[in-house]
Amino acid sequence: EVPKEPPKIHRLDESVVNRIAAGEVIQRPVSAVKELVENSLDAHSSSINVVVKDGGLKLIQVSDDGHGIRHDDLAILCERHTTSKLSTFEDLQSIKSMGFRGEALASMTYVAHVTVSTITKGQLHGYRVSYRDGVMEHEPKPCAAVKGTQIMVENLFYNMTARRKTLQNSANDFSNIEDLLKRFSIHHINVNFSLRKHGASGADLHTVGTSSRLDAIRSVYGVSVARTLIKIETSDNDPSSSIFKMNGFISDSNYVAKKITMVLFINDRLVECTALKRAIEIVYAATLPKASKPFIYMSIVLPPEHVDVNVHPTKREVSLLNQEVIIAKIQAVVESKLRNSNEAQTFQEQI
Ligand code: ADP
Ligand code: MG
Repeated sequence: EVPKEPPKIHRLDESVVNRIAAGEVIQRPVSAVKELVENSLDAHSSSINVVVKDGGLKLIQVSDDGHGIRHDDLAILCERHTTSKLSTFEDLQSIKSMGFRGEALASMTYVAHVTVSTITKGQLHGYRVSYRDGVMEHEPKPCAAVKGTQIMVENLFYNMTARRKTLQNSANDFSNIEDLLKRFSIHHINVNFSLRKHGASGADLHTVGTSSRLDAIRSVYGVSVARTLIKIETSDNDPSSSIFKMNGFISDSNYVAKKITMVLFINDRLVECTALKRAIEIVYAATLPKASKPFIYMSIVLPPEHVDVNVHPTKREVSLLNQEVIIAKIQAVVESKLRNSNEAQTFQEQI
């Protein structure tokens, strides 16, 4: 039945608006872990420990040994758009840290219960404080602390019934978190990462700093992956086409998997670039049809003003200036490396 009059437009409650926005930034437990670990990395931590209960729905706890948070900043820490990393819009062009919009912690407080414990250098004790809907629930309380920050996110999506239900039925939240930390650990090879299920005695993932990328990949993904890897690198420094540097490892014909693993960092930011992934898959399908689902680790560095990191609320997908040129160049090196290794292999088999 068509109503006689048009429906009246009204302004949504701020709390509703905030919760909707928060649900976009924090889509699943793994998105909260990513934001928290990136904050720890931005705080120059050398050790980051993650504890998870119920795939992250009951508890996500991230502890680091970074620079900590000043006592005076705790009052506004979890408000929307409060950040230590960005002040003008122009800063966005040269942003080096992973966070920048001051939205992550705030978002978590709109869809979960957040408790922060932190200590800064030279202090005798730390402070602990809990947040809800962007604000402190009480004055920070002195607490024992050694170094850095610990953030606890409890009862994620407690106020989003539908989201909670769908997530409760999906068993893969823990493995998504493990997969994320594996990715971080093979890029940030100087940082120790650990992941543990709450109450478990041992860790599911534990990495120790190393100076070799290949060692890191071997310890995290196993010898069977590491021994199939070929080192690749390329760069371009032509302002009229593209400026970038790329280095990484790609699997050869001995790596056979059901799906592609593409670990991509652009300017040290863990991102997805669907176009690049497709382009590489095409090269593999044409060159090594039997090993067409490769393992790829790739780090691309380009001038910060050539990357738009602000195209997606989760900052996951990025777009690059001269993307086609860059992708074509990367495709060319991948192809030549694969051909060389294939020829070497065939030659070895013949002798
Ligand atoms: P952003 O990272 O975009 O600045 P966040 O909401 O993730 O926004 O964090 C807000 C601010 O809180 C950061 O700018 C930083 O100053 C501080 N912060 C968050 N986590 C940590 C941490 N683990 N160690 C030190 N400071 C932190
Ligand atoms: Mg952040």
